[in-house]
Amino acid sequence: MNDFVYKNGRLHAEGVDLATIAEKVGTPVYVYSSSGIERRYREYADALAGTDSMVCYAMKANDNQAVLSLLQKLGAGADTVSEGEIRRALAAGFDPKKIVYSGVGKSAEEMAFALSAGIGEFNVESDHEVDLLADVARQMGKRAKIAVRINPDVDPKTHAKITTGRKGNKFGIDLDQAMDVFKRAAKHGSLEPVGVASHIGSQITNLEPYRAAFARMVDLVKALRVEGIPISVLDVGGGLGVGYTGEEPPKVADYAKIALDAAKDAGCKLVLEPGRRLVAESGVFLTKVLFVKEGSAKTFVIVDGAMNDLIRPTLYEAHHPIVTVAEPKPGAKARPVDVVGPICESGDFFAKDRDLTPVGAGDILAITHAGAYGAVMASSYNARRLAPEVLVRGHQFAVVRPRPSFEDLIGRDRVPDWL
Ligand SMILES: *Cc1c(COP(=O)(O)O)cnc(C)c1O
Repeated sequence: MNDFVYKNGRLHAEGVDLATIAEKVGTPVYVYSSSGIERRYREYADALAGTDSMVCYAMKANDNQAVLSLLQKLGAGADTVSEGEIRRALAAGFDPKKIVYSGVGKSAEEMAFALSAGIGEFNVESDHEVDLLADVARQMGKRAKIAVRINPDVDPKTHAKITTGRKGNKFGIDLDQAMDVFKRAAKHGSLEPVGVASHIGSQITNLEPYRAAFARMVDLVKALRVEGIPISVLDVGGGLGVGYTGEEPPKVADYAKIALDAAKDAGCKLVLEPGRRLVAESGVFLTKVLFVKEGSAKTFVIVDGAMNDLIRPTLYEAHHPIVTVAEPKPGAKARPVDVVGPICESGDFFAKDRDLTPVGAGDILAITHAGAYGAVMASSYNARRLAPEVLVRGHQFAVVRPRPSFEDLIGRDRVPDWL
């Protein structure tokens, strides 16, 4: 957690005291370290230096325009899954040619928008999508570069809700059908099949499933060449995990090496789509303690953040470390508590039976590793306003997505005049 360290008794994001942000911007609030994101991007850039490759940031992990702009300026491309994400990427200045459009359910309208924007690659996931994209492109007089996302049927040993590359998942095309789909695509004059893609899941902490998946992709590329379909792109997806529980996930350099070896073996340019790994550890979610409620069986620390702000604990049983912004006194004894939010759902928790040093009303907690799949998944359930987002660089910070007003919240609805 080296983007966030204690200095003078307070947790800091780079040079900024998190207590200052909590006071000036209010809580709950997301805080991101720009140098943390930059450092993690450079791990990829360094590992890939001098090779024919492209890092496309999977922006569904964190789509704040400031985060996108930072990664764009560092040279990243973008992996997108909707028209809205493509529009965000374009607004952040990404080169359209470096935009990959993934996703299992693209509409004709979204395809047309992506074609008119001139994006670099469509990752298609079914024979129906192949035909629809071919029609849309033909009508527009365009030729779409496509990669076919295959389902290599490997078990990434991660949470069921973020496993995507096994038989029975909705994603990709089963290997035994892939050849037919490529042949079908190659017959459409408006499509240019250029790549084999896969994305086997998220929060993967072992390289073996990748090795297995990449080997199957390489075999397919070679088989396609024999059939006269020249594949030039190997898109290995994302999914590399981070250490939520203090475990050591594989190093980017080791992961990049096996991906580069596969691309070399296949004679292809390499495309990578990391999301979580670039941003998760560079974000914290700050929330204020409202009450400490001593039940007969448990102690509840009730905070002003809730599942609508950060849903990962209840959605994926995800573990996020929780620390106090005020550095615990030496020798302070931790005891197990449940950290819960104000929403009327038992699923509204951040941690259960978590050892925490003593806290009281008004104390600020930092829920760490919250830079990925945090703010992007937030909702306004219980008429709660979306938490603002703050970006830090050195000693400066800026609110990069303000907290909406209650007028914003209520004013979006329309009451028909016949009521
Ligand atoms: C979600 C997703 C990614 C990024 O996954 P991470 O686990 O955040 O790295 C990459 N590619 C595709 C197609 C995705 O759906």
